[in-house]
Amino acid sequence: MARINDNYLKLKAGYLFPEIGRRVKAFAQEHPEAKIIRLGIGDVTQPLPPAVLEAFHAAVDDLGRKETFHGYGPEQGYPFLIETLIEKVYKPLGVTLNGGEIFISDGAKCDTANILDILALDNRVALGDPVYPVYNDTNVMIGRSGEADEKGYYQGLIYMPCLEENGFLPDLPSERADIIYLCFPNNPTGAVASREVLKKWVDFALQTDALLFFDAAYEAYITDPAIPHSIYEIPGAEHCALEFRSFSKTAGFTGVRCAFTVIPDGVMARTAKGEKIPLNKLWNRRQSTKFNGVSYPVQRAAAAVYSPEGWKQTREIIAYYMENARIIRSGLGKAGFTVYGGVNAPYLWMKTPANLSSWEFFDKLLAGCHVVGTPGSGFGPSGEGFFRLSAFGDRADAEEAVSRIIKYNKW
Ligand SMILES: *Cc1c(COP(=O)(O)O)cnc(C)c1O
Repeated sequence: MARINDNYLKLKAGYLFPEIGRRVKAFAQEHPEAKIIRLGIGDVTQPLPPAVLEAFHAAVDDLGRKETFHGYGPEQGYPFLIETLIEKVYKPLGVTLNGGEIFISDGAKCDTANILDILALDNRVALGDPVYPVYNDTNVMIGRSGEADEKGYYQGLIYMPCLEENGFLPDLPSERADIIYLCFPNNPTGAVASREVLKKWVDFALQTDALLFFDAAYEAYITDPAIPHSIYEIPGAEHCALEFRSFSKTAGFTGVRCAFTVIPDGVMARTAKGEKIPLNKLWNRRQSTKFNGVSYPVQRAAAAVYSPEGWKQTREIIAYYMENARIIRSGLGKAGFTVYGGVNAPYLWMKTPANLSSWEFFDKLLAGCHVVGTPGSGFGPSGEGFFRLSAFGDRADAEEAVSRIIKYNKW
């Protein structure tokens, strides 16, 4: 009989979102009249920008004619999209990349997970707490950790607490780390990293020969012109950092699927014998073998995000979400709640009132206001006492949710 990968048994059962679903369903059954507002989702809700949809349709039609049919494309992505990204995304930031350094994919989730394929198991990994659960769970799955302790920390992984005291910016790890995950703007806390903070990480990585995994899935939500959008705006990052980007939150591609990963030619890692090898080569080999590229219409749709019309429409949708964020943040702030994030990120990270635990607040918010959010403790032990609200809903829902929360005063 075949044997399983026992590392999967170390994972705690997918707890957070199923548990939220269970509690909401039970409440809705008991209170069928309640109009429940969901501010818990990490998914966009607005439709694709019209210019993107148009390009998508046109490319689908291309597949229906012999002259414009496309079969297998390059595993690394079509040059038309890669060139667009070089010109429209990186050049304006003063970052120069060559086409071979960008890999188009079907998601930043998959890329942050699959990248572990090309790195040895004995690398020591550091990640935030709270954190996007994919970083933690994929390291457990691949066998880099022991069992979880009662708090939820896995043996062998290095957790960097992101707390109110440090402005939700992790301190440098105190133990030796070979791979460090950074996510800015952050999911779940909404925190962003200034140029100084990113420079601290890049300098640290260069000094200690560590590799940075920089997840910039939410960079489009940065409103402060002083905040870098790419890790490569920091000199030296081209020697120590990979960058993960996605069209998911930028342009409503969560259901369409398109993302990209940057692996500069200068990022090296060593072999067992100590020889230095560019990671780019290994990833290229990995993708060529295990991936057959993103579909042609999807890549055409993604490129249309950067057409003049597409970009204007994309920015309008982002502005819509960020106005929701402003409404939630300022409404709750005026009512005396302590709220972080929501300025350069579509997530708000609120402190629960009256020292409620994350789940106690969840239950009260649901029962008292009919509003659903995400308990911070679900993202890691240091998220306890916090609560994530998302700006990805409708304007009317954001306004209504805030007014209900303000009116309810029985915390
Ligand atoms: C949503 C999200 C992504 C994007 O994942 P896709 O697979 O591209 O949809 C990546 N990182 C974080 C932290 C996210 O929240």
